[in-house]
Amino acid sequence: MTRPRVLVVEDNAMNRMLVREILSHAGFEVLEAEDVGSGRARLSEVIPDAVVMDIQLPGGGGESLLQEMRAAPRLADVPVIAVTAFAMNGDRERFLESGFDAYVSKPIDTRTFADGVRAAIERRAPGHVA
Ligand code: MN
Repeated sequence: MTRPRVLVVEDNAMNRMLVREILSHAGFEVLEAEDVGSGRARLSEVIPDAVVMDIQLPGGGGESLLQEMRAAPRLADVPVIAVTAFAMNGDRERFLESGFDAYVSKPIDTRTFADGVRAAIERRAPGHVA
């Protein structure tokens, strides 16, 4: 089985490094982007198996890049996991309603994060019964 490829779009270098370490250790190939523009550029080159998307991002925010992906046929079915620093009542519901596959609040739980990404990929896998 090939290693699942995950694009991490996160402007905070420490958070990006943490996510890279967790996902690499769990067997993922990790691609990185630091803002909406570089995320968009990466997505024009590759179709990752999943995207881990920070919400507070320079260049338009993670939600705008998600909407671009959902509007692009080649990227519409890529699972996208929202990550955000502020967790308020109703955030989870709001992010799932806006089209994210999953929602994780910071600080991320290093023990469960990779499993959450894997689960989001599997839920979109062909033949999966919800
Ligand atoms: Mn950010």
